[in-house]
Amino acid sequence: MRIAMVGSGYVGLVSGACFADFGHSVVCVDKDPAKIESLRAGRMPIYEPGLEALVAETVRQGRLTFRTDLTEAVAQADAVFIAVGTPSRRGDGFADLSYVYAAAREIAGALTGYTVVVTKSTVPVGTGDEVERIIREAAPDADVSVVSNPEFLREGAAIGDFKRPDRIVVGADEARAAEVMNEVYRPLYLNQAPILVTSRRTAELTKYAANAFLATKITFINEMADLCERVGADVQAVARGIGLDNRIGSKFLHAGPGYGGSCFPKDTLALVKTAQDAGSPVRLVETVVSVNDQRKRAMARKVIQACGGAVRGKTVAVLGLTFKPNTDDMREAPSLAIIAGLQDAGATVRAYDPEGMEQARTLLPDLAYAEDPYDCAEGADALVIVTEWNAFRALDFERLHGLMAAPVVVDLRNVYRPQDLEAKGFRYTGVGRPEGV
Ligand code: NAD
Repeated sequence: MRIAMVGSGYVGLVSGACFADFGHSVVCVDKDPAKIESLRAGRMPIYEPGLEALVAETVRQGRLTFRTDLTEAVAQADAVFIAVGTPSRRGDGFADLSYVYAAAREIAGALTGYTVVVTKSTVPVGTGDEVERIIREAAPDADVSVVSNPEFLREGAAIGDFKRPDRIVVGADEARAAEVMNEVYRPLYLNQAPILVTSRRTAELTKYAANAFLATKITFINEMADLCERVGADVQAVARGIGLDNRIGSKFLHAGPGYGGSCFPKDTLALVKTAQDAGSPVRLVETVVSVNDQRKRAMARKVIQACGGAVRGKTVAVLGLTFKPNTDDMREAPSLAIIAGLQDAGATVRAYDPEGMEQARTLLPDLAYAEDPYDCAEGADALVIVTEWNAFRALDFERLHGLMAAPVVVDLRNVYRPQDLEAKGFRYTGVGRPEGV
């Protein structure tokens, strides 16, 4: 198959490289010339484990190329994927579809022969109808089907997720389009990945339902964690106790500082708006959104409390800035709200992150950036673990004790056991765990 991937960000680049690895011929297009130039030079514009090697190999085999202009790639393609961003729209939180529609217009002008246009971006239900309308209006003679194929990969594990998905959802209202999609995913089908063919609208909504459900699960355990703190119970044991029930499952039951990232916050909000517009509000998800928003700021108050109730004039060391480990993505990271809360309360914040500092510098210009965890902790009145990078899982606490002005650790990911750190002379605060457990 010949594939054009329009948008070469976290999703487009990973999907394009994986499709090329399956044996397809792929052109990854991006309108950002710096991104394409860097990819052509073999430099990855994002951090994603395994991506550089996969791109290098598929480029070497001649199956993956990069372009800023989509015309030729679209003209030759059997399937054109739209993988551009769909951020929250300023003001109302609905998905900003301007990039998707702009891509659709550009694609329309370049179509030749039967082509399946596939929306891989996360888009509200009904967007496929509008993409189709735009294309038919701009290119009335084009032989085209518009399909929805939402992506479920996770940053940090994106290649594994793409190659071994739990399922592939294809929303195709025409059989011939579904056939092309079957061909595109045939290598995975042979690996027994279930392909679920649905209507286009069903596929679009499935993606939001999945993300809203996962966000709800996280928010549920976070509220249980708060309750545990009040009543002297241990949220990790509660999570295990419920997670071993197969009907519940153990994933996404880790209490922490609230969900962030490029997907859950914007997708839950967009679902809320879609549901309101449809006259069928999703009140559970509305509550999840507001509970999670408040939680991030509440985590700053947790740190302040651990510092004795005030941080004015104190230095707080923050370990981990990205919304989760193994990515450089800073979008909607809880660290942003936590650091703002600490700075507003008068703290000087110093931070370290293995991959996120470059992106963080533009979002958090008033922050001091450290070379490593120990440089970060030097002279600090508290050490806060915000993201559970492996690099923070085996810290040398004896060394840290000697470096810090006060032995205070706030572990927002429950990486450490309270009694271990207390034995090393630290005052430890976790999430949802009574002291001394
Ligand atoms: P991203 O911002 O990393 O990448 C989008 C890219 O599209 C950018 O490089 C941008 O320059 C390019 N672009 C925009 N308009 C273009 C055009 N007209 N022509 C060519 N290139 C264009 O975004 P992302 O994180 O890859 O997300 C893309 C979509 O996938 C979103 O809808 C997102 O919700 C969804 N999604 C993301 C993830 C994730 O983990 N990041 C997972 C599943 C789904």
